[in-house]
Amino acid sequence: CVPVMMPYVTAFFMPRQAGDRPDVVPAGAVNFAFLGQFAETPSRDTIFTIEYSVRTAMEAAYQLLGIDRGVPEVFNSTYDVRTLLAAASLLRDGKEIEVPGPAVVRDLLMKQIKNTEIGELLKESGLLT
Ligand SMILES: Cc1cc2nc3c(=O)[nH]c(=O)nc-3n(C[C@H](O)[C@H](O)[C@H](O)COP(=O)(O)OP(=O)(O)OC[C@H]3O[C@@H](n4cnc5c(N)ncnc54)[C@H](O)[C@@H]3O)c2cc1C
Repeated sequence: CVPVMMPYVTAFFMPRQAGDRPDVVPAGAVNFAFLGQFAETPSRDTIFTIEYSVRTAMEAAYQLLGIDRGVPEVFNSTYDVRTLLAAASLLRDGKEIEVPGPAVVRDLLMKQIKNTEIGELLKESGLLT
């Protein structure tokens, strides 16, 4: 007996390459589709999320039933600077950034970014006040 709080999740992380998993709607399929984590969707998504499974279901239903609707775009949070700054703030438990070194350096730096887009973004994320 191996007591665990949650199921193992190793299968999701096995190496894979194009062709290992079937397309959601394989070429020529008219009345069946593959849903979930082990089907391949072209939506630039990554597995291990509920969203992935939901997208595959949408893709299958829309394609097989000829419904003219797009599957919602993947939110590219990795490239969204606001999301990254908000994550950095959470990692610091909301603590502001402290610029190390003499106060004159900090003042100079703050002066440079004050009233700029960078200053605004840092303020918005709570990293600077
Ligand atoms: C430990 C862990 C943590 C996770 N954390 C997150 C998270 O934080 N956020 C997130 O978005 N996602 C997370 N996931 C992923 C998410 O849980 C799954 O991607 C999602 O539940 C998959 O949903 P699904 O409906 O495609 O498949 P499943 O939920 O796996 O449903 C498939 C169902 O089919 C049934 N089934 C299988 N074979 C048969 C059969 N022959 N006949 C009848 N029924 C059958 C199974 O019993 C199961 O109920 C996590 C997964 C794991 C394992």
